[in-house]
Amino acid sequence: MTAHRQPALLATDPDLAALVSAEETLQAETLRLIPSENYVSAAVLEASGTVLQNKYSEGYPGRRYYEGQQNIDRVEALAVERAKGLFGVEHANVQPYSGSPANLAVYLAFAKPGDTVMGMALPMGGHLTHGWGVSATGSWFRGVQYGVRAEDGLIDYDAVRDLALAERPKILFCGGTALPRTIDFEAFASIAEEAGSVLVADVAHIAGLIAGGAHPSPVPYADVVSTTTHKTLRGPRGAMLMCKEEHAKAIDKAVFPGLQGGPHNQTTAGIAVALHEAAQPAFTAYAHAVVANAKALAAALLERGFDLVSGGTDNHLILMDLTSRGVPGKVAAKALDRAGIVVNYNTVPFDPRKPFDPSGIRIGTPSLTSRGLSAEHMPVVADWISRAVDAAAKGDEPALAVIRAEVSDLLSAYPAPGLPVA
Ligand SMILES: *Cc1c(COP(=O)(O)O)cnc(C)c1O
Repeated sequence: MTAHRQPALLATDPDLAALVSAEETLQAETLRLIPSENYVSAAVLEASGTVLQNKYSEGYPGRRYYEGQQNIDRVEALAVERAKGLFGVEHANVQPYSGSPANLAVYLAFAKPGDTVMGMALPMGGHLTHGWGVSATGSWFRGVQYGVRAEDGLIDYDAVRDLALAERPKILFCGGTALPRTIDFEAFASIAEEAGSVLVADVAHIAGLIAGGAHPSPVPYADVVSTTTHKTLRGPRGAMLMCKEEHAKAIDKAVFPGLQGGPHNQTTAGIAVALHEAAQPAFTAYAHAVVANAKALAAALLERGFDLVSGGTDNHLILMDLTSRGVPGKVAAKALDRAGIVVNYNTVPFDPRKPFDPSGIRIGTPSLTSRGLSAEHMPVVADWISRAVDAAAKGDEPALAVIRAEVSDLLSAYPAPGLPVA
């Protein structure tokens, strides 16, 4: 047996240590297709678990409310400089605790409670924090929503313009969580300008693709770019707000002291490492491979008769409507999970079913690409998905067990970054 990876944790709290070990095994043996997940590198894991955790540092580098910041200031400055270099932005704030608080800081910076804000509707692929009703952003602000066209699943930019000109939102969000197609940031910028709105590009899902040159950048067009650091960017759980210099003060004030206290310095360190990794040529290759794999997987799924929203993908993500296969999304997702393939059930645009029991599943290629799987494997993956969905329809549990064994067999040849090799 190999040495336990967390010896102190094992000695202090064997129950918790056992759970971490079990999660390591699960992540090693399953095909993780949730498009917002990834595998961080061992270096990012190490940076995120350091004594930087012990330090309070409210404020910003050089302007702190606590002493003893000799190293912390440099850690944060390094992360900021790397973010600015990688994305070509004038200003970066690396302190938001995660994507949702980052977006809340944007509201604090540019709007007052009751103001109109506009974003893509959650069931159309938007995010909760873009003014959707159940979110604080939809109850403290007046959210108006755009969607996609029924015919082709694409954003109708003329309809977005008409709505924006009628509603004149303070903030216009573009970006989302289930958008398989390229976002036209230039089109959104011209709409925001006409409507007098602050344009926020929320690139949480695609930041890694942008960094690697596999998706156009919003930086020349958006007033603010909001992103998580833990999705395609392959960093620790956290977020960044990037903007032009003219908005720097408003953004910084909104994050601290507006919304947060002390930054999570161990996370800032992990972000700095992830940004360094993302600036390497290998990451450019990774970002392009993520998209190539998604396109190959989409093609293989179409060949097997699946309905894909918008007919395919331009990025890392595929949204599948399972109505024609006669299996609700949740039933399929749970069957796939038993087959060692981890996805999430998801609404599809104009879904006649309820959000907690929708018609679709959402899948993506960031994690499998981090393991080194390539386009030649995608027909096999599509086959597993197809067989598992059929098995779900028939209640064929043995078929799921067979797939699970095949999945773990293939994956044993593609060890995941940051995880112990069996
Ligand atoms: C994931 C995501 C967020 C929120 O990030 P959390 O870290 O989960 O709070 C915000 N916006 C978009 C578009 C996202 O995909």
